[in-house]
Amino acid sequence: MSKKLLLKDAHIEGIRYFETYRKQGGYGAAEKALKMTPDEILEEVKASGLRGRGGAGFPTGMKWSFLAKPEGVPRHLVVNADESEPGTFKDRYLMEFLPHLLIEGMLISSYCLGSNVSYIYIRGEYSWIPDILEEAIEEAKAAGFLGKNIMGTGFDCEIYVQRGGGAYICGEETALLESLEGKRGNPRLKPPFPAVKGLWERPTVVNNVESIAAIVPIIDITGAEYAKIGVGRSTGTKLISACGNINKPGVYEIDMTITVEEFIYSDEYCGGIANGKKLKACVPGGSSVPIVPANLLLKTVNGEPRYMNYESLADGGFATGTMMGSGGFIVLDEDQCIVEHTMTLARFYHHESCGQCTPCREGTGWMHKILKKIEKGEGKMEDIDLLWDIQRKIEGNTICPLGDAAAWPVAAAIRHFRDEFEWHVKNPELSQTQNYGLANY
Ligand code: SF4
Repeated sequence: MSKKLLLKDAHIEGIRYFETYRKQGGYGAAEKALKMTPDEILEEVKASGLRGRGGAGFPTGMKWSFLAKPEGVPRHLVVNADESEPGTFKDRYLMEFLPHLLIEGMLISSYCLGSNVSYIYIRGEYSWIPDILEEAIEEAKAAGFLGKNIMGTGFDCEIYVQRGGGAYICGEETALLESLEGKRGNPRLKPPFPAVKGLWERPTVVNNVESIAAIVPIIDITGAEYAKIGVGRSTGTKLISACGNINKPGVYEIDMTITVEEFIYSDEYCGGIANGKKLKACVPGGSSVPIVPANLLLKTVNGEPRYMNYESLADGGFATGTMMGSGGFIVLDEDQCIVEHTMTLARFYHHESCGQCTPCREGTGWMHKILKKIEKGEGKMEDIDLLWDIQRKIEGNTICPLGDAAAWPVAAAIRHFRDEFEWHVKNPELSQTQNYGLANY
């Protein structure tokens, strides 16, 4: 059984409220941290090996150490709660059921980074959650854990919740900062990076909800103890939101030593494939990461079991591996059509492109059109090669990672499931009434 650090109290009735959270030891880590120096906290975070839980997996301690500290210029912590990646809903769970865990993590992080005004930027579709967060902020303030002179330390900290307008691109950190400043959420060219010029051109750290919540157990048990959980550079625990054709969709906390097979088939997690079907493929890290067929998902090319961690999922690179990403684990059974699945994602990325760069603006639209054509049985064999060509021209040629995120699913689908694309071309009539999965199994 995986160790629980973040969700250990999630089942306790009333844990959403300060009184219950405090009775379970809540804000104990904050009290401990406020007696430490900011540099000591930073060393604990570095020692923990925590990697950003938003998708990129960049070491959090290193990111914090890049924060510029010019004299007299305010600094900010911004929590990225714009969780819009299809298949990813673990931050929603944390904010909805454990809002004080996030607030406590923000207090510790703000103190470490020297942020007196910190923000939570939350996607507009999570319309009921800002009220939960604002209530938790008020409770923490009433108890002296936010506001002026927190716990007599002389440190002041206010936290504000800002609702987004429902654009996926605002999950990209610089687009988020633009939106937070009240402008259209267009990604910025980097450098300068937010650590130097972020919110209102001030040094800013942008971190995912889960990353900031993880700061609480790191301070609680120490960074060194946190680093002992997990394996290699995949330290600590990770939240996975599992969905698709499984018996038990939901949010699970894993310690990154379990195999993918165990995660899918064990009753502790997904409980197997729904309706007794066979596993066909999986997108293990949110819609942007490459899809992997069942044989490569359960084992690496060397025949080793594939584990639920950053290194093992990526084993073999994009040719045979995938990525941990945001932990949005989407399972597809044998009845699913990969062309239809890929087309749905292409439509999403086309819709969400901000339009600033040509390869992304035009390429996502073309990919969607061609996929739609193939899926309807109106495609030609050359269309498959054209699709491959377009995704290659997008990847690495755009301002922000949305371009890559749109290209990778298409590349992986063609690489691993070219026969399905060809089936649609060769069977125009069948593909109008059937999908590949149902027609072939
Ligand atoms: Fe906008 Fe797409 Fe360019 Fe990102 S890659 S800046 S979303 S056009």
